[in-house]
Amino acid sequence: MRLLVTGGAGFIGSAVIRHIIRNTNDEVVNLDKLTYAGNLESLAGISHSARYAFEQVDICDRVEVDRVLRQHRPDAIMHLAAESHVDRSIDGPAEFIETNIVGTYNLLEASRQYWQSLEGEKKADFRFHHISTDEVYGDLPHPSETPNAEEYLFTEQTAYAPSSPYSASKASSDHLVRAWQRTYGLPVLVTNCSNNYGPYHFPEKLVPLMILNALEGKLLPVYGKGEQIRDWLYVEDHARALYKVVTQGTPGETYNIGGHNEKQNIEVVHAICDILQELRPQDKSYRELITFVQDRPGHDMRYAIDATKIRKDLGWVPEESFETGIRKTVQWYLDNLEWCHRVQDGSYQRERLGAQV
Ligand code: NAD
Repeated sequence: MRLLVTGGAGFIGSAVIRHIIRNTNDEVVNLDKLTYAGNLESLAGISHSARYAFEQVDICDRVEVDRVLRQHRPDAIMHLAAESHVDRSIDGPAEFIETNIVGTYNLLEASRQYWQSLEGEKKADFRFHHISTDEVYGDLPHPSETPNAEEYLFTEQTAYAPSSPYSASKASSDHLVRAWQRTYGLPVLVTNCSNNYGPYHFPEKLVPLMILNALEGKLLPVYGKGEQIRDWLYVEDHARALYKVVTQGTPGETYNIGGHNEKQNIEVVHAICDILQELRPQDKSYRELITFVQDRPGHDMRYAIDATKIRKDLGWVPEESFETGIRKTVQWYLDNLEWCHRVQDGSYQRERLGAQV
């Protein structure tokens, strides 16, 4: 099987590609524009494989997307390319509209034309897998508001109510993907996943930011009182789930993916501080670096996924608990500080751009 993965140089896309190359005999074509969030060093361990190819292409560039489809003739597309950082979407929504909505539309049209040109089994077995977020559902009652908050979970039937420009752009793309199935018969799969954490996460997101700031003795900024609840999933568990969905999922279906690991942001930060204290002990507790800052506008208070369907239909369950996953993650950052500094200070991007000239 040959899979085209968009956004394969990003955090989750690179985990998907590493998983496929290391654990299957499938071939992968990685289509990525290489924005600030894309980093080919995340694929250094597998990029020598004869089953891996890279195409630096923007999903908004129809001519180039058509060329890649004609040239590589994939059996399935896993679409992860997106602008993904909520804070950036608040400061500048335009890129989010362009990539997440227009780019997905463009990819759908190119995929439809390509799929319609196929014949026989190749056409019947083709899949377009759209990777999305639980943030499209808006937020759930918080335990501070409702005593039985734990009874409320996002299911595949939950109505969409996105709060941020990021989640609204992802919701729009989900609607487009489902419309392309209903109207044109394109065999699509949609997955909506909770917050991921793990290796190769760009250091602007909560978990890596806290680890790196703590190591440098910088303040650990936590929004509001840190009471927001997220359902944390280790990125390699997500990669395993996505591969199951694209190979075994039923076209037209949506699968929610989550770790049943509901944690307040402040609990996550405390866990990171305590593991660092154990692995890199210092006199002053890392927790003393925590500082509460003004909350993000429109900040959702709680997300939590009901992952019953993917467990029952496809037999997927996460392998990591939050405790094991966060320990592995902290250890990975300690072992890979060089990677972090290179993506943070832009030297990776400068070398890449220099190499292209
Ligand atoms: P990321 O920001 O780490 O990576 C995004 C990748 O897409 C980068 O490699 C970037 O270069 C590429 N890209 C951006 N614009 C592009 C364009 N126009 N054309 C081609 N490539 C482009 O994101 P991530 O955290 O790996 O998320 C991947 C997907 O999973 C996104 O669709 C996101 O909405 C979804 N998701 C993320 C999470 C999470 O916790 N990170 C949770 C659920 C769903």
